[in-house]
Amino acid sequence: MADETVRCGLSMLGTRMTGGAGIVKLMDDLGRAMDGTVDALMLGGGNPAAIPAVQAIWRERMAELLADEARFDRMLVNYDTPRGNAEFLESMAAFLKRHYGWPVGPENVAVLNGAQTASYCLINLLGGPGTGSGTTRRILMPTSPEYIGYADQSLPPGHIQSSRPDIELIGDRDFRYRIAFDRLEIDPTVGAVFVSRPTNPTGNVISDADLQRLANACSAQGVPLVIDNAYGDPFPGAIFVEATLPWTDTTLHMFTLSKIGLPGTRTGIVVGPAWVIDALSAMNGVLGLASGNVGQALALKLIQNDDIVRVSQELIRPFYAQKSRQARTWIADYFPETIDYRVHVSEGAFFLWVWFNDLPVSSRELYERLRRRGVLIVPGDYFFYGLDEPWDHAQQCIRLTVSQDDACVEAGIRLIADELAACWRR
Ligand code: PLP
Repeated sequence: MADETVRCGLSMLGTRMTGGAGIVKLMDDLGRAMDGTVDALMLGGGNPAAIPAVQAIWRERMAELLADEARFDRMLVNYDTPRGNAEFLESMAAFLKRHYGWPVGPENVAVLNGAQTASYCLINLLGGPGTGSGTTRRILMPTSPEYIGYADQSLPPGHIQSSRPDIELIGDRDFRYRIAFDRLEIDPTVGAVFVSRPTNPTGNVISDADLQRLANACSAQGVPLVIDNAYGDPFPGAIFVEATLPWTDTTLHMFTLSKIGLPGTRTGIVVGPAWVIDALSAMNGVLGLASGNVGQALALKLIQNDDIVRVSQELIRPFYAQKSRQARTWIADYFPETIDYRVHVSEGAFFLWVWFNDLPVSSRELYERLRRRGVLIVPGDYFFYGLDEPWDHAQQCIRLTVSQDDACVEAGIRLIADELAACWRR
């Protein structure tokens, strides 16, 4: 908010970044619960769990780096190029070639300060007003609800458009979203299509067939398809179903070291056509000169010797799969039988996504009520941005994070169950 007593104040962009977006307040609530300032059961946020065996690996790698004085000093004293550390880019390209057969070299890879910065750059490099009399291009999210972090990234605002998916009911208590291809228009006014897979917030893994169909539709129009693998393969591997990663001449993949336990290093990796990677590197240079290199240095050896795959598949995947199954069981045990709720099938990521078809209050009021009871969740409506028309469903969902310790998650789900019973009684 601008100070009325001074003549300078925030720009339109500044106002937007700091203003109305309730997400800023929400992130503050979640942040204070994580740092212990507020005493609350933390079932919000996307922090990775502290998995002791994984933390031990990063400590060991840091000790190795410290022992190699020349490498350690180079890491601290040098700016890398705006696209990343040359050895890391080579190794990442070789890793992807080895595992997936992708026809990529270092010219197809860029490292940015987190996948969050990478998506900001991609959204604004590919969407928005074109040059000269060029078309204004929108960024299309084919399965709303989609990752909250993209919502405010387009400059100027309004270029992100989301598409309502189909809902498939499964049994009495489960459901899933599916891309509604008949409602999807991919034409030259689309600058890029974005999907997170597994999806944050729902835990959906778009099927191989649907993703290939989407990739083909994008390729036919020359539209980049950005697949955000923040929770998926090859790392951190928090994906509980078989899924392959498609490659076409217009596909871009985003990866991050955050969910493998290194969010503090801010390391996001983008792989795709060289013309986009060149543009990303140029934008990264303008924004920040170069990216942080500590994450690249820590992960390098594990990428070169493939240990990153073993860590993901043997340590991380079973951990989150178990967390998800256990939390789903507690929901079945504690949620009142009489209320109409369904849980999205959990195929990956750190969350359960719960839908209450006749929720008597809005999802945001439910969030407030739960916060007063000492449990933090994320109200679902934040994830339904960019829709053409209002959708009741957007007020009926919440996201629960299941990555905290079991006692916290169980106590949180019990409290939610109790508050739900109170909501329906009122
Ligand atoms: N993409 C998705 C789907 C996420 O959930 C997150 C973080 O929660 C990010 C990107 C951002 O990751 P990073 O920490 O690399 O910026």
